[in-house]
Amino acid sequence: MAATATTWPHGLDPRRNDDPDLARLEGLPADQLLAWAIERFGRRFAVVTSFQAEGMVVLDLARRVDPGVRVLTLDTGRLPEETFQVIEAVRTGLGLQVEVLTPDPADVAAMVARHGPNLFHRDPALRRLCCHVRKVAPLDRALAGIDAWATGLRRDGGPARAGTPKAELDEAHGGIVKLNPLADWTRDQVWAHLGAHRLPVNPLYERGYTSIGCAPCTRPTRPGEDERAGRWWWEADQDRECGLHTRLSGGAASSPADRFSAALDRLRADVHASAQEGGGGSGGL
Ligand code: SF4
Repeated sequence: MAATATTWPHGLDPRRNDDPDLARLEGLPADQLLAWAIERFGRRFAVVTSFQAEGMVVLDLARRVDPGVRVLTLDTGRLPEETFQVIEAVRTGLGLQVEVLTPDPADVAAMVARHGPNLFHRDPALRRLCCHVRKVAPLDRALAGIDAWATGLRRDGGPARAGTPKAELDEAHGGIVKLNPLADWTRDQVWAHLGAHRLPVNPLYERGYTSIGCAPCTRPTRPGEDERAGRWWWEADQDRECGLHTRLSGGAASSPADRFSAALDRLRADVHASAQEGGGGSGGL
């Protein structure tokens, strides 16, 4: 059950039903921001995490407010075993229920049938297609059922994240509230919290990883590299992201965005054709 917050700054009473005052929320520290969301939205709020260092801090702060806080994660089908070890530690050690989101099996089957299982190395557009099928679409489906979510994004976590607010309306998901409670935290602050509270961490950090996603798309970073340099390292775009927190914008002809759109259209046609043939999709994961 959620703890009851005490006195909230003017305009932030969680019992109000009007639009949240984003400017005032921006001034709240991470723990109070989470407490506000839990009190206002209850089960319509969730922490969405891939169990990286930042996600563990957000989980820890949220569970102190409400040990039953909702936790969502994406099992893309390509995660490293070490990430599942952290999920188990969170379930058994911290006692949190974890709701695991999975891709649509028909989408995965159609994508793999047309492009092969390791399509991501061939073209940034196909990499984005894989991220869309395995991450973006499942998250879109899950967020359709909630009113607010929290992430572990930090402003100094990469070039594309420099402008991350602590509170925003997530227009890509119907205008729900998106909180980034650690937006103004440094990496050192995150690790200090993990150490002080003896929280479980992904063992891959000890092997030189500084950001952890799917196994085939993540490598350890080298001294002096950006902390997200090990994600899709073969792509030239310095702002590369999976699409969970960004939306592709239009580009020049034959840009990765255009090719991604074309590949997504083909995927939808393949799934439709497969269903028409009576298979309703060709097998599971
Ligand atoms: Fe696919 Fe790699 Fe994206 Fe995972 S990170 S969904 S394997 S492209």
